[in-house]
Amino acid sequence: MKAIDIINKKRNKEELIDAEIEFFIDSYLLGDIPDYQMSALLMAICLNGMSDAEIFALTDVFIKSGDVLDLSVIDGIVVDKHSTGGVGDKTTLILAPLVASCGVKVAKMSGRGLGHTGGTIDKLESIPEFDVNLSEEQFINQVNAINVAIVSQTTNIVPADKKIYALRDVTATVESIPLIASSIMSKKIASGALKIVIDIKIGRGALIKNIEDARKLAALMIKIGRHYNREVVCLLTNMNYPLGSTIGNSLEVMESIEILQGKGSKDLEQLVIVLATIMVSLAKNMSFKDAREQVVSNLKSGLAYNKFLELVKEQHGNLKMLHASNKVTSLKSDKNGYINAIDALKLGELARDLGAGRLLKTDAVAYEVGFKLHCHVGDKVDFNSDLISIYKGEKAIDFSEVRKCFTIEEEKREVEPLIFEAIK
Ligand code: URA
Repeated sequence: MKAIDIINKKRNKEELIDAEIEFFIDSYLLGDIPDYQMSALLMAICLNGMSDAEIFALTDVFIKSGDVLDLSVIDGIVVDKHSTGGVGDKTTLILAPLVASCGVKVAKMSGRGLGHTGGTIDKLESIPEFDVNLSEEQFINQVNAINVAIVSQTTNIVPADKKIYALRDVTATVESIPLIASSIMSKKIASGALKIVIDIKIGRGALIKNIEDARKLAALMIKIGRHYNREVVCLLTNMNYPLGSTIGNSLEVMESIEILQGKGSKDLEQLVIVLATIMVSLAKNMSFKDAREQVVSNLKSGLAYNKFLELVKEQHGNLKMLHASNKVTSLKSDKNGYINAIDALKLGELARDLGAGRLLKTDAVAYEVGFKLHCHVGDKVDFNSDLISIYKGEKAIDFSEVRKCFTIEEEKREVEPLIFEAIK
């Protein structure tokens, strides 16, 4: 087989056979196919799409490129959750202990942030001494003992996706629904859970910009899930505005604790309750109504918070040392009006520039910096009322750029919902 023939075939909109896909990906991983030929194939896929058979073949090669976790040694059904990435998305920190407190096993492998979106592992590491590097045995033992563990994804889960994703990132080939679906689903399948809930973020601050593409991605991931005997439910949610009130690692952990203590912003609480309800109902084969009752009760009674404390203790985190920067500046509104938009993408980029995220994988993260919003989309603000607090570190940012993230107008515009729909 020759790489150029396979690229030609895809460019001419012909269907690739399994052996061709396997040859191309395996040879690329071995270094026998160079980046420029892989880039050409990726672009041809972006432009011409993939058939279901091609997508299954690609997902299969991805899974087989690395380790596959066997979670059958965990007692009970394991549920996983994934978010396609957003700004201020700290849901895993709240969800994992909440769902675990309902008696469901959560064996969670998470990633670090890159670009304008944050990562759960960076957030957890803002808790001093929190250990995200458990061995597979420790990971499984902890889930069996307390129902929950959150660890950093090992490099050996789907190494083919890792190498190809880095190339997609610099060749404008990330935005392809078949490529996104097999990238996400291969990692979820290799991570071992039988039930998977995926939060597909839609909007300016997200990879997926509109609901039609989100529906296509959801349908495809559900189909891949069925092919591997996994039950997948997708929730389509809004990422035109940041989620909750904080952006930045330690600030997001503090906000998560507030939600677990029954305080904090209602939009975030609402999303957590819906995601947890889906996870619990999938794992326990329960009606949504019964699952929701248990979820809300565990959140309100403090059982979920206690589970969070147990998780932090098991992974050696020291919550007493958790802190945000004490260099805080607040921006105030320069007019009366309604907050009609808060630019999630721009705020995510500015938080990254402050040091909360990274541009390169090797960049260090400043855990204590970030933003705390004092208003949400739809709120009325008066002249001089607080808009946002900026928690600074070593890096400077232009405050006028932060101000530009807020659209304040005399007339109130309709507020888009946080949750659009669930697809299963
Ligand atoms: N997240 C992934 O893991 N893969 C993609 O392709 C896009 C988002």
